[in-house]
Amino acid sequence: MQKTLLASLIGAALAITGCAEQAPAPTATESAQVSESANDTVSMENPFFQPFALQYQAPDFRIIEDEHFLPAFERGMAEQIAEIEAIANNPEAPTFENTLEAMERSGELLTRVSRVFYNLVGTDSNEARRAIQSELAPKMAAHSDNINLNPALFERVKSIYEQRENLGLNSEQQRLVEVYHQRFVRAGALLTEAEKEQIRALNEEHSRLTNQFAQNLLAETRNIAVVVDTVEELDGLSRSQIQAAANAAADRGHEGKYLLSITNTTRQPILTQLNNRELRQRVWEASAYRAQSGDYDNRPISARLAQIRAQRAALLGYDSWADYNLETQMAEKPEAVFEMLGSMLPAVVANVQAEQDAIQEMIERRGGDFEVQPWDWEYYAEFVRQELYDLDESEVREYFEFNRVLHDGVFYTMNRFYGITFEPRPDLPTYHPDVEVYEVFDHDGTSLAIFYADYFAREGKRGGAWMSSFVGQSHLLDSKPVVVNVMNIPKAPEGEPTLVSYDHVTTIFHELGHGIHGMFSNVTYPTLAGTSVSRDFVEFPSTFEEDWAAHPEVIGNYAKHHETGEPIPTELLERVIQSRSFNQGFDTLEYISASLLDMEWHSLSADSELQDVNEFEAAALAKHGVDLEAVPPRYKTTFFSHSMGGGYSASYYAYMWSEILAADAFAYVQSQGGLTRENGNHYRRNILEVGNSRPTMESYIEFRGQEPTTDALLIRRGLKLSVD
Ligand SMILES: [Zn+2]
Repeated sequence: MQKTLLASLIGAALAITGCAEQAPAPTATESAQVSESANDTVSMENPFFQPFALQYQAPDFRIIEDEHFLPAFERGMAEQIAEIEAIANNPEAPTFENTLEAMERSGELLTRVSRVFYNLVGTDSNEARRAIQSELAPKMAAHSDNINLNPALFERVKSIYEQRENLGLNSEQQRLVEVYHQRFVRAGALLTEAEKEQIRALNEEHSRLTNQFAQNLLAETRNIAVVVDTVEELDGLSRSQIQAAANAAADRGHEGKYLLSITNTTRQPILTQLNNRELRQRVWEASAYRAQSGDYDNRPISARLAQIRAQRAALLGYDSWADYNLETQMAEKPEAVFEMLGSMLPAVVANVQAEQDAIQEMIERRGGDFEVQPWDWEYYAEFVRQELYDLDESEVREYFEFNRVLHDGVFYTMNRFYGITFEPRPDLPTYHPDVEVYEVFDHDGTSLAIFYADYFAREGKRGGAWMSSFVGQSHLLDSKPVVVNVMNIPKAPEGEPTLVSYDHVTTIFHELGHGIHGMFSNVTYPTLAGTSVSRDFVEFPSTFEEDWAAHPEVIGNYAKHHETGEPIPTELLERVIQSRSFNQGFDTLEYISASLLDMEWHSLSADSELQDVNEFEAAALAKHGVDLEAVPPRYKTTFFSHSMGGGYSASYYAYMWSEILAADAFAYVQSQGGLTRENGNHYRRNILEVGNSRPTMESYIEFRGQEPTTDALLIRRGLKLSVD
């Protein structure tokens, strides 16, 4: 979900900390018209109209129906507009309390319904919800603009901003003033009326197109699932995978056939297993050419989105959308991003070349008479990996049983490092039977948060993994966090244990890293809480936690055979850990290529013509010397939801930036004694609790004693052996 200005103003209601593509932005065709009379009949029983009675106002999913959403949104918007008008037209002189604090308190109903609705659209989409989403999009965009472009409101904020040094404000309050002022300016508060009209029109079109992009992608993903006629073609898949493919085909009316779904990246995990080269090619092409033709063509939408963003940036006085976007990031300037990515390329490309040589040699040794193609890379890389590490993924999975990973790995680490515990709360209602609820207790036994664990894949859930909140932390609103983690782990059939990959293990750690960033939040103002930090900082706390997965004290506690309970053999464990740096050239390059593609799309100037997507993409990759046929970008434009569809436009690089911080911080913690409560407290206090209540670099230096360096990152990725 794009972190819109509205989201910030109504308390980050729509913020989803993404580790994959964004929640589809809402859309529709007509402008907002609230019909009060139509709502009266449901107003008495609409559960959103008052705070939920459950602990920490956790949503009561037993009484929420799809028909409640629209009336709640409409009333929520109307209420907030009334609140904002009252603030803007207050005859008293502007003060921090009667303006900023009042704005922080506004939109309570809208925040409540938005958080539930946009979470459910991500985790449990259906026809009705998609229709609501479409209808809401232009209304929400208009609502956001009605606040952000209110001149009387801006005058008050500006007046407080100008006097901020002399108002006796504490540092968090001063920060809030600065954040609000900057947001208004960036939303166009200093523009003329005619220019504001142009911004409004662009915002509305942008909102409609990002939603269409996402909806196209969802439909296309279903549309392009590969139907396989015979079981022989599936050679290489496990029995349960074949069964799942047969079930999926039957569900879709292809009785007796097999259906292979396409997952979100260009690269498809199943390619490591399929022995049939033609089928590999079909799967890869279905993925790589998705949404490039037919009913769900995202090319014209992508081209126009890039243009809209450039035009919006120009109106606001910036050279490009990238310039505009980076202003509020830790990186600050596009040049810093190009420089950071570019500086890594020589080492990365050298690694890719060595990997490709090894793969080509493997193809020939196995009797192949062809040059490695993208659909071959993962398949033959697996042979090279096995030869180097003799690692059988399915053997490794035997030691990663889902429940044990979660409880004895992830929760265990959180207890060792921070002293927190997770107690099941089966009494709290959920939106799906697969979701588990926990109450999280602090080291001293006080209750800290509610945590929803939604780890398993299902139809209607969008791809990837992410964290979000149903309720945010705020001392002002006296609210405690209600947080959710979402993943897409394939669930084992009834009665069988779910065995996960090591990647899944680290992702569970990662998402809970976001989770505790939300849960440990300890600020007054909702706008500054938890994960409301810049894009290039937000993945730092999550990536930081990933590396515990391989920490000896942690892995020894959870990596046990699901049948015998035997710990993972040391020698196997060492190979698992060493193999992590395998294929890092490819992994890093596909990521950097996608980041560069994202940056190039958003470096266009406002007077650039609509681009031909395929030509633009090819030229952008060639420009940076990353147009390697066998290593396509992790996402291509038409399914690059981070970049085109949502909140990571000109920000996809942010994962790498955050990883620099994470690697540096983790190495620092290890140098200070590792998994100790003292380290956990120090990190929690300086990084996790403060949210965005002070500049992120300031927080980092407070924690680390110095600015980060890239040494630990390069070592973490196996691109460098040690610190120079
Ligand atoms: Zn993440």
